[in-house]
Amino acid sequence: MNQLSRRAALLGAGAAAATLWAEPIRAQATGPYALPKLGYGFDANEPYIDAQTMEIHHDRHHAAYVANLNAALKDYPKLGAMSADVLLSKLGQVPDSIRTLVRNNAGGHVNHSMFWQVMGGKGGEPGGALAAAISRDFGDLASLQSAFNKAGAGVFGSGWVFVTVNKVGRLTLVPRPNQDSPIIDGQRALFGNDVWEHAYYLKYQNKRADYLAAWWNVLDWSKIEARYSAAMVGTLTI
Ligand code: MN
Repeated sequence: MNQLSRRAALLGAGAAAATLWAEPIRAQATGPYALPKLGYGFDANEPYIDAQTMEIHHDRHHAAYVANLNAALKDYPKLGAMSADVLLSKLGQVPDSIRTLVRNNAGGHVNHSMFWQVMGGKGGEPGGALAAAISRDFGDLASLQSAFNKAGAGVFGSGWVFVTVNKVGRLTLVPRPNQDSPIIDGQRALFGNDVWEHAYYLKYQNKRADYLAAWWNVLDWSKIEARYSAAMVGTLTI
């Protein structure tokens, strides 16, 4: 059990965690950047996401973003010492020659670090303050899911669909192209789904809508509730 899930289990999800939360949720503190371990087996999301897709996605695709980011920053130790979220928030300070590389690969690193964290669960529904926020901002969970799936299906080519959360807990549906992270725009992803073909093609081929619908069955809402609590006290970083 990782630190986040241990803490969530100790405190219970929801408002109680908000006042006690201490550790920032980061990919890691500084570079060189490292591939985070999955908190569950490659087969944990079966049958909705197959084990082979999980293994290739984590061990090859995410690993490549990490390797490419480290390579891009090899001659820029000050930038390489920043955490990936801080780096993305300061893209304007990154030299032109590597800015696109950093945007794509730091984005890929933080997006996937979030993605692994919110999966490995059994779906269902959130509780507590997050459930209330979803009702307030989307009407109900089914309405959120419907709008989210529509936005994900509407991403042209490769990209993501996120629900972002601000410091007062307001939720917003935000599709993004490529590996663009909401962090670039000063926002934080509460959770999000990867709609690059590499995320689903082995099992779903061209049926992205089926993948989007199935994905809700593997969410770990306790992790997302912990991320929501962290966002409210300013410690959600990736
Ligand atoms: Mn991906």
